[in-house]
Amino acid sequence: SPEDDPFDFLFKIILIGDSNVGKTCVVQRFQSGAFSDKHQNTIGVDFSVRSLNIDGKKVKVQVWDTAGQERFRTITQSYYRSAHGAIIAYDLTRRQTFESVPHWIHEVESLPFLFSLPPVPCLLFCNKSDLAENRQILFEEACTLAEKFGLLAVLETSAKESRNIDEVFLLMAKELIARN
Ligand code: GDP
Ligand code: MG
Repeated sequence: SPEDDPFDFLFKIILIGDSNVGKTCVVQRFQSGAFSDKHQNTIGVDFSVRSLNIDGKKVKVQVWDTAGQERFRTITQSYYRSAHGAIIAYDLTRRQTFESVPHWIHEVESLPFLFSLPPVPCLLFCNKSDLAENRQILFEEACTLAEKFGLLAVLETSAKESRNIDEVFLLMAKELIARN
């Protein structure tokens, strides 16, 4: 199967952020190119794998999605173990999900202490850009926050309209390759 093919890099990337920001839809869109509007709770910790070709290298990207545990802000530690990178999401129509971003950054920053790892790169994305008429956070404000916390970048995505989805994972994968 394609899963058994040789690869040059394998990266575990964790997806975090408040519930209902669209994390599961984004990972589904990334993996299968589809958007499902049916409300779906992630059952158990789940991951998807997709192979990317980056500058002639085969890169397997394993994206971990939460089990909806983020609702209680108690994500199991095994979720974070051996993560190479973290992607944090908020919803541009709900200010509260942006206010939570420092909490999620803090979780990622505590990883090295839990697992004696080097710090992991963190990327921020703002989902539901198709609903920009209901925007509660300016892009500039997100950039200021990203700069303050040393995040790689901020991207605005729409899982619904398939905007900037692959870019999020490509950017992270390229950064991880550069660090290896
Ligand atoms: P999660 O809890 O962060 O995993 O969020 P879900 O992926 O379950 O999505 C939560 C809700 O947001 C669902 O009703 C989705 O249909 C909706 N949703 C997700 N992504 C988008 C998007 O890009 N645009 C719009 N308009 N709705 C979205
Ligand atoms: Mg989910």
